[in-house]
Amino acid sequence: MPEMIEVPVLIVGGGPAGMSLALLLNRFGVNSLLAERRATITTHPKSRGCHARTMEQFRVWGIEERVRRAGLPQESDVACWCESLNGPLVGYTQPAPTTNTPSPRSIVPQDAVEEALDDALSRCPLADIRRSTELVDFEQGPTGVVAKLHRLNDGHEYQVRAQYLVGCDGASSRVRAALGVQMDGPEQMALMANHYYRADVSHFPHVRSAIGFLVRPRDRSKEDTIVLATGPVGDRWLSVQKLRDGEEPMTEARLIEAVRELWGIPDLHVERINVMNWKMSAQVAQNFRVGRVFLAGDAAHRFPTAGGNGLNSGVQDVHNLAWKLVAVLSRAADDALLDTYEAERRPVAQSNTAFAVDNQHRIDRMDDAFVRRDEDPETWRELLRDQDKQLHSDGQSMGFIYTDGAIVDDGSPVPPHDPQRYWPTDRPGARFPHFWVDAEQTESTIDWFDTSFVLVCGPDADGWQRAGSILAARVSVPLQIKRLPHMLGPLSIERDGAVLVRPDGHVAWRAKQAGAADDLYRAYDLVLAGGTRAVTELVPSIEVRT
Ligand SMILES: Cc1cc2nc3c(=O)[nH]c(=O)nc-3n(C[C@H](O)[C@H](O)[C@H](O)COP(=O)(O)OP(=O)(O)OC[C@H]3O[C@@H](n4cnc5c(N)ncnc54)[C@H](O)[C@@H]3O)c2cc1C
Repeated sequence: MPEMIEVPVLIVGGGPAGMSLALLLNRFGVNSLLAERRATITTHPKSRGCHARTMEQFRVWGIEERVRRAGLPQESDVACWCESLNGPLVGYTQPAPTTNTPSPRSIVPQDAVEEALDDALSRCPLADIRRSTELVDFEQGPTGVVAKLHRLNDGHEYQVRAQYLVGCDGASSRVRAALGVQMDGPEQMALMANHYYRADVSHFPHVRSAIGFLVRPRDRSKEDTIVLATGPVGDRWLSVQKLRDGEEPMTEARLIEAVRELWGIPDLHVERINVMNWKMSAQVAQNFRVGRVFLAGDAAHRFPTAGGNGLNSGVQDVHNLAWKLVAVLSRAADDALLDTYEAERRPVAQSNTAFAVDNQHRIDRMDDAFVRRDEDPETWRELLRDQDKQLHSDGQSMGFIYTDGAIVDDGSPVPPHDPQRYWPTDRPGARFPHFWVDAEQTESTIDWFDTSFVLVCGPDADGWQRAGSILAARVSVPLQIKRLPHMLGPLSIERDGAVLVRPDGHVAWRAKQAGAADDLYRAYDLVLAGGTRAVTELVPSIEVRT
């Protein structure tokens, strides 16, 4: 008999999505086994940055400061168009502060993020992280999934029986292929090669003030290129080469020559660290769930990189999924709750795809305007200003509102989606807004949302607080009560109102004023039964008084 390991959740893939899920499950007190093919975390910086919503999660998980230290200075979320890296620098976008969050975005490379997650996981006793371990195949039945894993070091094969499997195995997901899930959208918009190199140019004043440089040489026979800053020092860079049909990535010798020319330093020491080919795609999986198997991160969606949603969406996916898996595993919630994962996250993935495609067109439109900037400065300036829409996208990052899912819809109008600007709201489905609870600005409302539901009560909401305490004592998915000390936040509830917030920080239900305790009890039950996806007749978890 082959070796068989039993675990509640098997995670395939240890990129940002898979590691975040293992970390989250550990916080909830649930065991997981993570199988990752690679022996180490990524050696390529890939993603450029973490949006505020991701940084908020890192804050709650205790890794925000570490991640931020590995990033560029706060005001450097600007893109620069230039003819060469030693000038002239023709146009910069404007940096803009992220507001409405305790955790502004950070321009930080993915390897540093993975390092922080990996380090945090080393202190998670319930997360069994198995590197150099590949998923070979799996089968699912009504009670679980049996997967075959292959240890790459010594060829050992063994089986894992899990109640749920989450495929966080990236763009070429084997889990997705095995499920037969199709992707909507173009698979290849462009083929790119990222050259990651070391070259110490930290003496230049401009290298720490921009996320990247779009180099468009005046001599049009020379190649355009994008050079991205990697880390806070100014000694590691990423050169992005767009490959034509059949073209190979440039050789190291050619890269060194090109880099020296770009920086205008003929004897600059340049060392290529690695090179990675990747496809620019704009695809969303048709299903995020098939039975007991889920897809998250790049396995579920692939965006053009402009606007930087790849890593961020993966972290949000598993943040949405983790508490639902935990609630169903503990038998406190119906299976229908798990259907809300796709209902909530797929529309966000579609929106992020459209946003990223728009951003890519935004960048492409700059090329002609850059060349013609002296004849047509108005168009050039207008398009440069337009770039702010992709660089400052707090609305896209924090403003998504789930309208179909684990919520009790109160029928209020859904605020229009504004990708650039985040408009705080306590409407069901929205992220509960951040505001500081104390004058010293050390405690944010965001800090309250981690592994339990939270009933946020207005300063005069004695009735809701009492009802919440009764509910908290009887339910198996933990519920905490928080009393607002003041109404200094962007809330629609009155002083005696309350908001029920899910563990992922999204509003499940809202009572604008004092009301019947039964409304809260029913709301709690309805959310765990799947909210708008509930299929069972509700049996209240505590007796409803009539
Ligand atoms: C070169 C490059 C540049 C990028 N630049 C940006 C950017 O600028 N901005 C941005 O937002 N995004 C960027 N991205 C995308 C970003 O890196 C991804 O969105 C992000 O890594 C997705 O995280 P993930 O955890 O879903 O998947 P991944 O990070 O791809 O992780 C998947 C993991 O699964 C493992 N795996 C696969 N199959 C198996 C198997 N059968 N068994 C076990 N393990 C398996 C892989 O080894 C991998 O570690 C870039 C990606 C690449 C490749």
